[in-house]
Amino acid sequence: MTPECYLTFIMDATITGIEKVVKDEITTSIEKALKTKIHLPPTLTIYETELRKNRRIIRGLYNPNTNELILNKGHWCRKTLIHETLHAASYFSQEEYERLNEKIRILIEGMTEFLQGYIMYKEYPECYKAWINQKYPICSLPITYEPATQAFAALARHVPIREITKLYIWQPNTNWHTQYKKFLNKYNIEDVILTKKAKIKINITYTFINALTKTFGNEIKELIYQAPTETCLNYSEMKE
Ligand SMILES: [Zn+2]
Repeated sequence: MTPECYLTFIMDATITGIEKVVKDEITTSIEKALKTKIHLPPTLTIYETELRKNRRIIRGLYNPNTNELILNKGHWCRKTLIHETLHAASYFSQEEYERLNEKIRILIEGMTEFLQGYIMYKEYPECYKAWINQKYPICSLPITYEPATQAFAALARHVPIREITKLYIWQPNTNWHTQYKKFLNKYNIEDVILTKKAKIKINITYTFINALTKTFGNEIKELIYQAPTETCLNYSEMKE
């Protein structure tokens, strides 16, 4: 079944033009919710095509090498636009972080999905509700991203979302490594990303969750593995 909200949104976006929707509406919503300026590549281009990857549906992607935001025709909605626009505005789409991006890809997806959920919670409550309740496949939280997304939701019980935002949204005159080190020191969290220890190669999300549990206690694991998804992703319980 095609959700009614999808039809309305896609119709409006088609009339307005998807690039305009991203550059005006989506950018404004992100900046308002995250309370920070974002910087999209000036040459950013956005278009729809048919995307296929190992017979799995991918809804959209951002290619940092070409600055293209590509949407899978008929398979994307507002959630996809917010998610991919966040990728375009993140540290991890900058050339200098290409290797880091590969190394911790699933954590970055988790952080993207977590921030995108927060933007929907603040600016698009209907989208947020549909996302959290897995109401429609087109805007649901992908199973593969779930633990990493929930890890950031659990972290946000102790660390304000604005601090997590600083580790994600690219800003001029600073760099990710500086932000990351400040963050670890402030909250006394073990580094599992830049460390040379071999264990992180096995499962970066699991290692990250263990590090958070060491600092903040078992509540972290309870929220991620035992609480219902809608409890874990309840942003009203988090620090802003
Ligand atoms: Zn993504």
